[in-house]
Amino acid sequence: MHTHELHWSILGAGAIGTLWASYAFKQGRSAALLLRDNARLEDYRRARGILATLGGSAELLPLPAQSCEEDGAPIDHLLLTTKAPDSLKALSRIDHRLSRGATVVLLQNGLGVREELLQRRPDLHCYQAVTTEGAYRPAPFQVVHAGRGQTLLGGGPNADVLANSLSVGPLDVSATEDIDAALWRKLAVNCAINPLTALYRCRNGELLDNPLALQQLHQVIDEILELGEYMGQPARFDGLREQVLAVVRGTALNRSSMLQDIENGRPSEIDYITGYLCRYASDVGLTLDANQQLLEQVRALS
Ligand code: NAP
Repeated sequence: MHTHELHWSILGAGAIGTLWASYAFKQGRSAALLLRDNARLEDYRRARGILATLGGSAELLPLPAQSCEEDGAPIDHLLLTTKAPDSLKALSRIDHRLSRGATVVLLQNGLGVREELLQRRPDLHCYQAVTTEGAYRPAPFQVVHAGRGQTLLGGGPNADVLANSLSVGPLDVSATEDIDAALWRKLAVNCAINPLTALYRCRNGELLDNPLALQQLHQVIDEILELGEYMGQPARFDGLREQVLAVVRGTALNRSSMLQDIENGRPSEIDYITGYLCRYASDVGLTLDANQQLLEQVRALS
């Protein structure tokens, strides 16, 4: 498998999906967006491409795109960039095009989609990636690369090749042998910050000014550390408290994606963040009261 020969289909043409597709296009790599349906494809054709602000000024990039409703060539490499709760439904639209044994890279927040996907399609090779790149969509078919970050990818023997192939422009993707550690770390930070910002409808930094929120934040962290001990993997969450507080301070003005989802009436990723944590804990015989309560409170907001 030669890195530069892989053709990627990108399902989830939002901020992260179009960010990767835009840099791939500029670098002459082979990638195509898979849009939700024919109507969305029509809208995209009218827009004549993705208006991408990648650093300098905005440029209109005529990225190749197809509709999930169209028939097309079999898909061997899929980058999935939908939000976690939309993933299975989105994948079901292209199930017939996904080759037997195709490679799927999940590039999204939260945990649990991999298990759901493999239950349905055990033939797939499912890798996972976690990113600190920041991007947003000011309008449909527009993307702004707002913050540089790093991306880790792992979950199988071809992680190196896939990471190379997905390293486009400044998007730096590295293979890791322990993607679970990175995913759990990100999950833990998200569990501590995102649900509380949604509950109190506040920016990340405002959690520090709200004594009740701050107390809950520490309880969430205590429970995750307890789970780490219980799993016999305390090192997995080394320095978690300090890291969470550093992230809260470093992103003080940000409105978390969970807060934005709740405010915009969209399904949040809570079931794949706090929900996954609580399910996992319960399966090993532990109840996480503060996390469970937050899970129910944020679900009630959705
Ligand atoms: P987003 O902008 O909402 O993009 C998600 C895309 O998925 C949307 O374009 C949506 O299509 C598409 N989609 C949903 N259901 C679909 C279906 N059934 N068929 C086809 N497409 C479908 O979200 P995002 O910000 O890119 O985030 C993606 C993931 O990355 C999330 O897990 C997020 O937490 C994570 N993440 C994001 C960032 C960031 O900076 N944005 C950073 C780190 C991690 P429509 O346009 O038609 O609604």
